[in-house]
Amino acid sequence: MTDPVVATGYRPSHIAGNAALLTPMQRELIDRVAQLGPRFAERAVRHDREASFPVQNREDLRAAGLLGICVPRAQGGLGADYATYLLVSAEMGRWCGATALSFNMHVAASLWAGEIADALDMSVDQRADHDRKRSLHFRRMVAEGRLYAQPFSEGGAAAAGVAPWGTVARKTDGGYVVNGRKIFASLAGVADYYGVLCTLDLPGHAEGGTRDDAMYLAVPADAPGLTVQGDWDPLGMRGTVSRNLEFTDVFVPEDARLMPEGLYAQAASRFPHMFATLSPTYLGVAQAAYDFTVRYLRAEVPGMPAVKRRMYPTKQHAVAEMRIRLEAARALMLQVARDARIDPDTDTRMRLFAAHHSIMEGANDICRLAVRTCGGQALLKSLPLERLYRDSRCGSLMLPWTAELCLDRLGRECLYQPDEQDEVID
Ligand SMILES: Cc1cc2nc3c(=O)[nH]c(=O)nc-3n(C[C@H](O)[C@H](O)[C@H](O)COP(=O)(O)OP(=O)(O)OC[C@H]3O[C@@H](n4cnc5c(N)ncnc54)[C@H](O)[C@@H]3O)c2cc1C
Repeated sequence: MTDPVVATGYRPSHIAGNAALLTPMQRELIDRVAQLGPRFAERAVRHDREASFPVQNREDLRAAGLLGICVPRAQGGLGADYATYLLVSAEMGRWCGATALSFNMHVAASLWAGEIADALDMSVDQRADHDRKRSLHFRRMVAEGRLYAQPFSEGGAAAAGVAPWGTVARKTDGGYVVNGRKIFASLAGVADYYGVLCTLDLPGHAEGGTRDDAMYLAVPADAPGLTVQGDWDPLGMRGTVSRNLEFTDVFVPEDARLMPEGLYAQAASRFPHMFATLSPTYLGVAQAAYDFTVRYLRAEVPGMPAVKRRMYPTKQHAVAEMRIRLEAARALMLQVARDARIDPDTDTRMRLFAAHHSIMEGANDICRLAVRTCGGQALLKSLPLERLYRDSRCGSLMLPWTAELCLDRLGRECLYQPDEQDEVID
């Protein structure tokens, strides 16, 4: 890993721990991100302050071929699988959390349409049609360097996975007409396509569609009727520019489908590991907070007075506590990467909820300890720690698996078999 700042002092760990256990491809892709990292970290300062998207990072990612990271090799991509992507995402998060989180929204479209769709049940005709349509999306990502966003959230129960999407797609000649509203759309105003989850409004469907009628459509950013709305001045992850999107009679052709009609519900229930792709970003943020703390206590932060603080036992204990939590989070991320598969059993799903919760809450905890340990001077905006602290707070608020919802689901699964219910008590 290249990090000129620490050439002679502290040498940060590899994001995966023992890099020797990785495949050559995993090592190479992580290194590719590590090469870009110092530039991302430098730009993060301005984009955090402005709450603007680091467009130069997008160009760097494109030039490095990373916009096609999970696009199959046969389609011109790098062909990385889910597990490899998690590691790459964590490395990116260590340099710029907002870039890694936004990148996740883009990569998710290729994972849903690629590796996940390959594992689903489809008829022969559906599969052939999907192959044709996804090759169009993959070509856009790889050959044209197009960026896909993933606006799912609507501010209601849909993003938590318990209600149909309020955004609706009505079938029309040659495509669909989309109406609705999405909130918190990372890459708003920057993405070329918005991978929108909506409900297919079937004629005669009295309730206006169920969760099984979910559709996944890539809406072009310049489609008439699509507008980006609202301001963006949040606590953290400011560079994601997650503004709102309004869809008013937006027409998209049939080839906008990222998955065949009705397949998203199957994908979401059979491949729950997809929802854990958010957490490596936050592991990366936690790693950055730990790295900063070690450098700070060793008086190796550039531009700071050379005052060492490492000799105090309280600092040593605090940094040990941070390291323990960081290694636990890293181990859990590696476990998630190993466990991911179609139709995980109940135990695997419970491990997944536990891991996701631990990484998201753990990242914020590590950043909290970093702030307490480094002290007041480390909170200046000229240093990255206060940004890491703010960014880390966002992880466990992200649907569908907020920290609270992980507890809800895990607690229920710990105590009930799938078909068990309690007697109603009046
Ligand atoms: C920096 C950032 C970037 C984001 N980017 C994206 C993006 O690109 N795409 C996207 O789709 N979303 C994105 N989100 C949105 C995110 O995933 C959540 O949808 C959003 O944070 C939810 O906020 P809310 O106030 O609407 O939550 P609410 O829905 O009001 O929920 C508040 C809390 O209540 C709990 N809760 C919610 N529903 C239930 C339920 N049914 N049962 C029990 N408890 C429940 C949860 O713990 C939740 O944290 C982003 C969020 C942030 C902070």
